[in-house]
Amino acid sequence: MKVGVLALQGAFREHIVTLEALGASAVAVRLPEQLGDVSGLIIPGGESTAIGKLMRTYGFYDAIRQQHGAGMAVWGTCAGAILMAKEVLDALPDQEALGLMDIAIRRNAYGRQVDSFEADLDVRGVDDGPFRGVFIRAPWIESVGDGTEVLARHDGHIVAARQGDLMATTFHPELTGDPRVHRYFLDSVIGA
Ligand code: GLN
Repeated sequence: MKVGVLALQGAFREHIVTLEALGASAVAVRLPEQLGDVSGLIIPGGESTAIGKLMRTYGFYDAIRQQHGAGMAVWGTCAGAILMAKEVLDALPDQEALGLMDIAIRRNAYGRQVDSFEADLDVRGVDDGPFRGVFIRAPWIESVGDGTEVLARHDGHIVAARQGDLMATTFHPELTGDPRVHRYFLDSVIGA
C-alpha cells in the first residue's frame, strides 16, 4: 500500500519512518501530481499557517479535495488536523483550511503556559493499552458534526476524531515510536 506524506514543512520524516516500519510504502509528497497514486495522505504537524501558504503556492487545496473525492483517505496530525477542519477557531485572519472534515478546531488551544505536554490516551480502535499522546502547541477539537466519531478525549476535550476515510489527531503519534495509530490508519481508515 502506498501512502503519501505531505512534505512541505513540519514533522513529515517521522511519519515516513513509522509507515515504512509497518511495511507500507511511504512517499514524501512535494507536488500535487504525486497524489494520483496514493491510497492515503498524511498532513503532518508543524505550523498550519506555513503549511497552508505552501499548499496554496503549489496548488494543493484543490488537488487534495479532488483526490479525496476520488477515494484517497486523509489523516491530519496537529497542524494537519487544523488544515482538515471545516471551521478553525482562533485562526489568523487570512488562514485557510481544506474544510474536509466536519469539525471545529481551536488553534493553540492550550495556550502558552502549558504549550507542550504528554498524556496517556484511550484511543478508540487502538487496542493493547493507552497511547502516549505528545501535544506540542496543540489545538483541540471543540465540536464534531453528526457523522463524525470521537476517538479520544483528554481532560474533556476531543483530541482525535474520524469521519469515514478522514481522521484528525491533535497530538503527534509519529513522535512516540508506537505505530498503533498509523496501523489503525492503514488498516481501518484507508479504504473506509
Ligand atoms: N500551533 C501549530 C499551528 O497552529 C500546530 C503545532 C503542531 O503542529 N505541533 O499550526
